[in-house]
Amino acid sequence: MIQLVNNEGRTAVVLTCDVCQKPIRDAALAMVRWRREDDNAEDSVIRDLTFCHKGECDGAMPGDRRGDPWWELRHFLARLLAAAGTTPGKLKTAMYDVGALRPAPECLHEDVGPTDNPPEDFVCFGCHTVFESELDVQRAQKQARMENDGEVLQSDDD
Ligand SMILES: [Zn+2]
Ligand SMILES: [Zn+2]
Repeated sequence: MIQLVNNEGRTAVVLTCDVCQKPIRDAALAMVRWRREDDNAEDSVIRDLTFCHKGECDGAMPGDRRGDPWWELRHFLARLLAAAGTTPGKLKTAMYDVGALRPAPECLHEDVGPTDNPPEDFVCFGCHTVFESELDVQRAQKQARMENDGEVLQSDDD
């Protein structure tokens, strides 16, 4: 379910798992399910949506819900945003408006390793940026360090 959580005067909105009641922090590792019989009814509006973590929480759902249709949560959210007229650009602006996106890249890409496929790609485990070669990694690290130094200088001037 969707909850508003007040934390030291700031209100946050969280989607909690209907099985374990804990917040869902990764939309790729969660899902939304609805009942098969609701899905089969023609012209029906389905209001009874169940949100849960994939894996253990989904597995803990009653056996008769196992065959229910489902979407990955991130795809559900994408469809919801699109239906509400939110383009990627508008979404980004709105995320900046509410402080959900910060003008990053404070990541210095120091924790970089190879991805599974293709083997020549590298990924930063800090910010999930993918690099095509080790040279790209070095370039990005240098760039990030320069930007970071620049920010430090600017704030010193104040
Ligand atoms: Zn859960
Ligand atoms: Zn990074």
